[in-house]
This record gives sequence, structure tokens and C-alpha cells, in this order.
Amino acid sequence: MSEAPQSGCRLNPPVCPSGNARLIWNCSKRYFPDMRRRSLLSLLPIPVVVQVLPLYASEVLLDANRRQLLYEFHSGLWMNLHHLLYEQAEARRARAGGGLPTQVKARLDALLSQIDTLPAAPRRIWNDALEAYERVWVRRDLLFDDGMTRIKLRLAEREASLSLVGASLPDDLRRALQLAAPVYRKHWWPEHDRNNRQKADDLARRVQELGLALTGQLAALYRSPWPSKGRLRVEMAPYAGFGGAYTSLDPTFTVYQNTDPRKRDWLGLEILFHETSHAMIAPVETAITRSCQKRGRAVPEDLWHVLLFYTTGEAVRQALARRGIEGYVQYADANGVYGRAGWLPYRQALALHWQPYIDGQADFDGAIAGIVDALPPKPTMDNGRSTPS
Ligand SMILES: [Zn+2]
Repeated sequence: MSEAPQSGCRLNPPVCPSGNARLIWNCSKRYFPDMRRRSLLSLLPIPVVVQVLPLYASEVLLDANRRQLLYEFHSGLWMNLHHLLYEQAEARRARAGGGLPTQVKARLDALLSQIDTLPAAPRRIWNDALEAYERVWVRRDLLFDDGMTRIKLRLAEREASLSLVGASLPDDLRRALQLAAPVYRKHWWPEHDRNNRQKADDLARRVQELGLALTGQLAALYRSPWPSKGRLRVEMAPYAGFGGAYTSLDPTFTVYQNTDPRKRDWLGLEILFHETSHAMIAPVETAITRSCQKRGRAVPEDLWHVLLFYTTGEAVRQALARRGIEGYVQYADANGVYGRAGWLPYRQALALHWQPYIDGQADFDGAIAGIVDALPPKPTMDNGRSTPS
């Protein structure tokens, strides 16, 4: 069983707390590649399932999940605490590194000033827990590190448990989470839980409207079935990497940031389906690779991901237009993603050669070949790693 990531995405954001240009962006990777069709619960030993399921099920966001059948939204204390500690530790490291643009530093200062508002005793406890994240966990990638994905899955299992005793987690991480939990429960969790529920309700309403149309269209466009016969798990959290969402595959499991102005209104729905599209993009990646091999040229880096941004965004635009809602601007255009990442030549090629395929006026292989031929044989594009913020 290989655990090596097979796909992912990186992009430079407008603000990058780490001070370097690499980040995770609405990403995904395949986890347990030989078990792609198995559900999360099928990966667990049976006694654990029996023991954990009733607790875990109690944290499912029922209102949001009653509205639609595609996604299972969750608001879990441990998952939220883990991501908050990760975010704060990341901010502390970035700030300690210095040399940040004023705007970035101001944002990090505001984020970390929340800790200063805690009374002295809980602040000491919180800082102890945070130190463990700074020392170890924030140095590991939320998405591309298999150990971090395993931690995410374990925390999901224990979602509604009062304690992590007995959870299969690294000792110092478990200690940090246990230490911080009472402080978190009292000072941050009520607000985060409320935000999770509000955003999940909003997403669910939109899934109810467009979900079925999108699943069919995306499956046809990506030539890949919808990745689950059951609901796909989505964890709402105060932080989900720089891009505001990330997804591990096998099982498809998304963490989605509950408050993010970039994902307002229908853009939030697009990003939800963007995340799921990561589990459907493999045939496109294969076709791009084959087309490049035929031409004896290198595969343009990130092309599959730009195509994913474009396709899911366009699918949402068309689904809205069919309902009489005109003027939707897809996420990557609305948030300047293509320009910032140096992807504009890709976008132009997609508009010229892929849009006719989306519109049913060109075949899949011909469209892929057209895109590849339209791009320079030796890509000189900056893939975002050195794009100034
Ligand atoms: Zn992505």
C-alpha cells in the first residue's frame, strides 16, 4: 500500500503567513490508493466502529444534512481545536521569522492577540499546548504528510468524545489537545461551532438547489463517477490551510474553513464541488500525460489543477444560468487565482479548447490535445512558488 501523495495543488496566496511562497490550496491527495472505493468506516476495526459511531454521529450537523444527500457536514471539537492550534502555531512561526509585509503582519497580530485576551491561568495552559504544535506539528504539512492525514481521521472518529484517552494518536499531540481542550471549550468553541453550523446550512441549501445537476455534469466532464454512493464527509473548521479547504482521498474527506470571505455565496458551493472534483480528476490527468508523451514534451505543471478550477467553476456558472441566475464569476477569476499563480496562459488555452468540450461541441481527447498544443513546449510559467504576494 503506497501512501505517497499522487496529486495536490500549491499556489501563492495574496497573504502568506509563512513568508515563503509555498502553500496548500484547495488541495487533495490520494490516501490509501488501493482502497479508493472504501468508506472511512470500512477502514476501522469493527470494535472501534461499534464503540465510536453513536458518539460520532451525534456531532453530525443534522439540519444541514437533512436538506441534501450528497454531503455529511460535521462540527467536531477536536478537529476544530487541532486546526486552530495549527493555524496559531503557523502564525507564530511566521511572525518570529520576521520580514513580513505590513498587512500580513497585522493579520497575524490580530489572530494571535486572541490568546492575550485569555486570563493568565488558561493562557499559560494554552501556550503550553501551542508550543507543542510549534515545535513539531506545524512543521508537517496538513495535506501532503500522511501522518497528518491519519491524525485527521483519528480525530474524526473521536469527534464527540470528551477525552482522547485511548485514541491512536502521537502522545505529545494527544497531550497538547487534551491540555488545551477545556480552554478551547470555554473560550472559542461556542463561536466556532456556531460558524460551522451557519456555513454548513448555507452550503447545504445551495447543494439542495444545484447538487444533483452538478454531480451529473462533473461526472460526465471528468469522465469519472461521483466518488461515493453515500455522503462525502466535510469537516467544518476555523482554519483549513491557506486556501481555505483541503481534501484527502480514499476516503474523500474535506476540511472546509467556516468563515472565509473568498468563499461567499455561490463561490462557497463551487469550492465544495472543487474539493470533490479532486477525487474525479484522474482521467484528465492521465489524458494530459498521454497527450504530452505523444508529443515528446514535458507535462505542463499544474495544468490538471487549472483545468479543475476552470471546469468546476464553469459547471457552477452554467447550472446557475439554467436557473436564471446570470453573471456568476467563477472562483479563480473572482479571486485573481489565475493571474497570481501565473496560470493565465493555461486559462486562455482552456477558454479556447476546453470550453467547446464543456459546451458539448468538441470531444474529450481533441480538447486535451488542443490545450497541450496551445501551450509552450517548454513551459516557462511561474507556477506560483515565487509569485510575489
Ligand atoms: Zn484544488
